[in-house]
Amino acid sequence: MSQNARASAIAAVVSYKSDATPLNFREIPSPSLFGVNTFNEKEMRARLPKPIFKALQRSIKKGDKLDSSISDAVATAMRDWALEKGATHYAHVFQPLTGITAEKHDSFLSPTGDGSAISEFTGKQLIQGEPDASSFPSGGIRSTFEARGYTAWDVTSPAYILENANGTTLCVPTAFCSWTGEALDKKTPVLRSMQALNKQAQRVLKVLGNSEPDYVFATGGPEQEYFLIDRNFYFSRPDLNICGRTLFGAKSPKGQEFEDQYFGAIPDRVLACMLETERELYKLGVPVKTRHNEVAPSQYELAPIYENANVATDHQQLTMLMLQKIAPKYGLACLLHEKPFAGINGSGKHLNWSLGTDSANLLEPGDNPHQNMQFLVFCAAVIRAVHKNARLLRASIAHAGNDHRLGANEAPPAIISIFLGDMLTDVFEQLEKGKLESSKKGGYLTIGVDTLPALPKDAGDRNRTSPFAFTGNKFEFRAVGSNQSISGPLVVLNTIVAESLDYVATELEKATGGDASKLAGAVQTLVQSIYKQHKAVVFNGNNYSEEWHQEAEKRGLPNLRNTVDALVAIKDKEAIALFDKYGVLNPRETESRYDIYVERYCKDINTEGRLCLGMARSSILPAAYRYQGELAQTAAAMKACGRTPDTSSLDAVTELTGQLEGAIKLLQHAVEHTASGDLLAHAKHYRDEVCPAMVKVRGVADELEQIVADDLWPLPTYREMLFIR
Ligand code: ADP
Ligand code: MG
Repeated sequence: MSQNARASAIAAVVSYKSDATPLNFREIPSPSLFGVNTFNEKEMRARLPKPIFKALQRSIKKGDKLDSSISDAVATAMRDWALEKGATHYAHVFQPLTGITAEKHDSFLSPTGDGSAISEFTGKQLIQGEPDASSFPSGGIRSTFEARGYTAWDVTSPAYILENANGTTLCVPTAFCSWTGEALDKKTPVLRSMQALNKQAQRVLKVLGNSEPDYVFATGGPEQEYFLIDRNFYFSRPDLNICGRTLFGAKSPKGQEFEDQYFGAIPDRVLACMLETERELYKLGVPVKTRHNEVAPSQYELAPIYENANVATDHQQLTMLMLQKIAPKYGLACLLHEKPFAGINGSGKHLNWSLGTDSANLLEPGDNPHQNMQFLVFCAAVIRAVHKNARLLRASIAHAGNDHRLGANEAPPAIISIFLGDMLTDVFEQLEKGKLESSKKGGYLTIGVDTLPALPKDAGDRNRTSPFAFTGNKFEFRAVGSNQSISGPLVVLNTIVAESLDYVATELEKATGGDASKLAGAVQTLVQSIYKQHKAVVFNGNNYSEEWHQEAEKRGLPNLRNTVDALVAIKDKEAIALFDKYGVLNPRETESRYDIYVERYCKDINTEGRLCLGMARSSILPAAYRYQGELAQTAAAMKACGRTPDTSSLDAVTELTGQLEGAIKLLQHAVEHTASGDLLAHAKHYRDEVCPAMVKVRGVADELEQIVADDLWPLPTYREMLFIR
């Protein structure tokens, strides 16, 4: 990377002109676009024979067993629809344990034997695919010689058309498993956990007096934070390009401290990019709703309306895909990493989660939660689940990228606690004391200006520091990383809550023995005892404060500060048994996930370590030497003409250059030597040797950046990347 790359990047950014075709929402309003590229309920109703349509809907909406005999008819209708949309191929899309989606395309083309061809798509091709599984992580479930992997159509998530300038592809969401039927993907456990959740929730609703409860499913509304920077900068930074985050870079003199970014006016180019991204997402039926500037410079957020959590998971993957696909059309690169830039806010993905039926949200407290038995029971079940399984929940958000957020001095801390808010805490506390009399009311806000309307006030304030916050009628899991699939956290949440609902149902069934008159008393006793046992996990204060860390320790809440410590929880005996009991993951599947995630951590840090080393040696050190040479020449020249040069800059550069040489040697040693022992020992080596060595190299390099002559510095700086746009 020469300094020319940096200079020409800046020149290109400054003279940027969009060549994207402007969109026109007047001609094609967004409602008319919504879902046009999905094989949705409306298309199915129009194209399928009635009995087949109904059978399919029963599987989609009530979780009924899929009747394979209808697949041919569905495939034909889907093919006709796709051909009308210009599709040439179909693809089974799946979510291997890499965390991103994978797809294998097959053409519809089928030669007829007389030299011509027709478009064909059979029921079998719809419901089952067989990609070679040997190159996806399996964590020992499958050796490479056993290469068979199968994809299986997920009817509950709509098929869609992916557009390309040169043609379109019919995409079928699928689960991915091995020859033994074991899950090799992220979708299968989501579906299994949704099934477990429904089963236990049904039992609870039945004891509560609902004789025929509707199908219960988890809902998800994932908010996505991301950065957009100019592509020219992105490609002149090997670290952003390869690792998704900057491994070097001194703080910009202006960062986010002016608090002028959050909700600020969205730059034109960025807004244009958002509009097109949203438009593409509308077509795919992804209900994107809000957008705004986030706290850090060049950071943004997009949030959808919540949906069935399985569909939301697929839509979230599509959202990340589209963000990254559309950005280049506007000369931008979308950074999804949790911490692209040190010293300013990182990105998260708040997973809003609730459970409900087609017509009701089971976590809706209403105006009088103290009288809302159903709400109290479900809410107590969640509190119990989160307290009992805090380690597992923490593990579900553990990966190298998120280590820069969790446990650092921003974003939610690594300690899992629940924010309940004033109103609910008050209700549960009254209950604990034995008497439930009232619910705090919000009343109205007075702003002091007569012409402004009176605003209804919420009964409690928000808390932005909690990793797991109750926000009105749902929980917001705020510690999820911006770059990760929501499926892992979702599977854990669904499963631990299913276990808790199982417990609740069993206790209530025992206590009432089917006698409805005993119900209110039984609920009161149960919720009371749950709150007593598990209220240690409730914390409404400032989660960033030092006092909380001490208090949490006193309360016995785990504080797993990094990925390596956190991932170990997946292998807890209790966790393995829990997933097994609820049919979400068998022990082999659980253990394979542990292996895959630990290995992934090692690979991530290994890549960062090697790149850090390479950049330090081949771009930063040379820049330092060149500047040192210039200063030395100047000093020599001054001496030659009888002056006494001030060598303080030369001394500083010489000192730092020496330090950089030393730090590079340490990093090289750390990167080249691996630990002996098992996978965990390797991961610890990366955490304890490679990470600190990288920090050291970076520290010196960032100091050099601030004194080396600007025209010699090879990398675009933080100031440039974040503020030239
Ligand atoms: P807030 O005021 O807490 O930001 P919003 O209603 O704007 O609440 O929702 C924020 C996010 O939470 C959105 O993505 C939204 O779809 C999601 N959300 C709202 N209700 C639910 C629910 N019942 N289940 C899951 N997610 C939900
Ligand atoms: Mg937000």
